[in-house]
Amino acid sequence: MLRNLAKFARLRKQFSYNQLSSSHKTLHLKHRLLFLGQTRQAHLSTLGRASNAISNSIHKYPTNFRHISRKFASTANTEETTTKSKFKKKILLTAFLIGATFVVIYFDYKFAQVEAIENEIKEFPSNFERGGPKNLLIATHLTDEKDSEANKMRLVILGSGWGAVSVINELEKDQYHVTVISPQPLLPSATVGTLETRSLLEPIRCIARGISAHFLEAKASEICFNEKLIEVVPADDSSEPFYIPYDKLVIAVGSLSSTYGIEGIKYCHFLKTINDARRIRKTIMDNFEKAALPITSPEERRRLLSFVVCGGGPTGVEFAAELYDFLTEDMVKYQFPSVLRNEVKVSIIQSSDHILNTYDAKISEFAEKKFSRDNINIITNARVQKVEPNRIVYKLKSNGEVKELDYGLVLWSTGIAMNPLTKSISEKLEAQKNIRALITDNRLRLKGIPDSSVYAIGDCSTVENPKLVQQLMQFFVDGDADKNGNLSYKEFQTLAKKIGRRYPITKSYLKKADTLFARYDQDKSGTLELEELRAMFEDIDKKMTSLPATAQVAHQQGKYLGKKLNQIALAHKTNLYPSPSDYSVDIENPDIDDRLPPFSYAHLGSLAYIGNAAVADFGMGWTWMGGLSAVYLWRSVYFSEQVSLRTRSLLALDWTKRYFKVLRE
Ligand SMILES: Cc1cc2nc3c(=O)[nH]c(=O)nc-3n(C[C@H](O)[C@H](O)[C@H](O)COP(=O)(O)OP(=O)(O)OC[C@H]3O[C@@H](n4cnc5c(N)ncnc54)[C@H](O)[C@@H]3O)c2cc1C
Repeated sequence: MLRNLAKFARLRKQFSYNQLSSSHKTLHLKHRLLFLGQTRQAHLSTLGRASNAISNSIHKYPTNFRHISRKFASTANTEETTTKSKFKKKILLTAFLIGATFVVIYFDYKFAQVEAIENEIKEFPSNFERGGPKNLLIATHLTDEKDSEANKMRLVILGSGWGAVSVINELEKDQYHVTVISPQPLLPSATVGTLETRSLLEPIRCIARGISAHFLEAKASEICFNEKLIEVVPADDSSEPFYIPYDKLVIAVGSLSSTYGIEGIKYCHFLKTINDARRIRKTIMDNFEKAALPITSPEERRRLLSFVVCGGGPTGVEFAAELYDFLTEDMVKYQFPSVLRNEVKVSIIQSSDHILNTYDAKISEFAEKKFSRDNINIITNARVQKVEPNRIVYKLKSNGEVKELDYGLVLWSTGIAMNPLTKSISEKLEAQKNIRALITDNRLRLKGIPDSSVYAIGDCSTVENPKLVQQLMQFFVDGDADKNGNLSYKEFQTLAKKIGRRYPITKSYLKKADTLFARYDQDKSGTLELEELRAMFEDIDKKMTSLPATAQVAHQQGKYLGKKLNQIALAHKTNLYPSPSDYSVDIENPDIDDRLPPFSYAHLGSLAYIGNAAVADFGMGWTWMGGLSAVYLWRSVYFSEQVSLRTRSLLALDWTKRYFKVLRE
């Protein structure tokens, strides 16, 4: 308001000056010169002086300047009248401004009062009722909830990792009342130390804000599917649990590392959260500090600088590579004695005969050679038996020999297991039998929930593969278009495409229809009989594997689900439902979900960083291994997978800093 008043005063002065300037054109030349001098002076002097000069001019030349040239001779009376009317105007203007200010202040106060009352009503948890199986408070509204959200379908997303963030990014604003519940901020990827943790973290609140979603830093401890209530506890267990109701629920809570009940697992580090990464970094630094002490014995120094990774999958391998980079390159900047560098030892213990054994064999071989050049010790065909405070005990599969390895830090990274929430869900539902993850259908709906209200994505879930054999008759009858009791090549081709649309996971197995047809047409009749198709389906059923627990899968599932939830919201709003198609489920009353296409995974290749080199497996024998070019490929994928422009920029900055540091060295 004050600023506006000052602006107004300035404009007024400017206006007076302009009026004077335009009016002076009508003055007699002599007076024009006189006026010009004064107004120029007025314009050039400071504001205060300018206004004096202008008012002098006004006193000298009465207000109606247009008529001055005609009746220039002014009288003492006119001057007095003008001064009076000017004074009146000033009074009126001031009164008007004061009045307006009061009106603004009054409305502002009233608005604040209304807002305060609204906030008071919404305050948590003033008027919640108790209910549900445990008679807990049911948080039917949230602290930052708007009235306009009250009647929207409640969508709750559990988790803030790869899967959850992809759903959020895909969801359209204002379609649902969205609540994201997770005990920690986003962790797109964890690393040892070559990258700053701030470069990898993006506050989930910023992401959620994009679709006006609410965020609760808490964890879901149980779900009551009958009453559609989620039992939630604050992340630090600081207060009693409460319920959050839902209409649609997305479970994207990730997984834990599988520990196989190994004795002494508590001495191991895990790498799942940013806190894990920080703890690892701290342990490494502490070990270096202790190793640098003059009284530390050479044996103890070697132990402190021995780093063991249990698990030779992509996570363990990447960790070992980054750890090695960090230990050999980054520790220099901390000015540790160079002798320590020579004592560093990194070992990988792998239960199968190669590291990266899910990749193409050429890739495993390349990685093993690279690691042996870097003096990374690879112990294959070995099973960890127990972990002691300073020592790990393992058994070689080949000859049963039991060996020991001293360590200063051990990282456990072998497979995935259920976390307490998914375990409790699995135990509750009859249809859930898998011990590692929640089972979903190919529309990512949780098995055992009949009304399509619960989805599970990412590491915490696994998509059930179809059993083609179980639908053999139906497929055979559908495919036999001319009803002659066998399938011609053309009929088989059409059938294969149809099966692929309904069960996208089968696409890659049915892709080469001509080769398949030739192989299973055992009597070489040029057609496929029922028994020949059965043999083919049995083989395909056996070959089909589950999708891997990777960020790539979680990301694609999240994207698919986000899009689908938008379509569902739209169908509810418009009452327009998608018409049935090849992929629709054949049930009497299919819901929208049954009519929309199933999830289809597109494998874009598996990448792994192996320390100033990278490997890529694109499937079907396509691989890429190498130094700089592969590292750039790996980096660009890593870069594109970042969740925001901020994390991308910080990542780019980290890599640039690292590049210049390497150049300097
Ligand atoms: C070190 C490391 C490196 C990896 N590198 C790669 C790679 O290069 N490429 C690749 O494809 N994959 C990689 N992965 C695997 C990848 O990170 C996972 O597959 C991916 O994160 C799975 O996504 P998600 O959303 O299912 O689970 P996560 O990303 O693990 O997220 C789970 C979320 O759920 C939250 N949560 C947990 N419990 C609860 C609860 N009870 N209630 C509410 N929220 C909960 C967690 O806080 C977290 O936010 C790597 C994994 C690790 C550990």
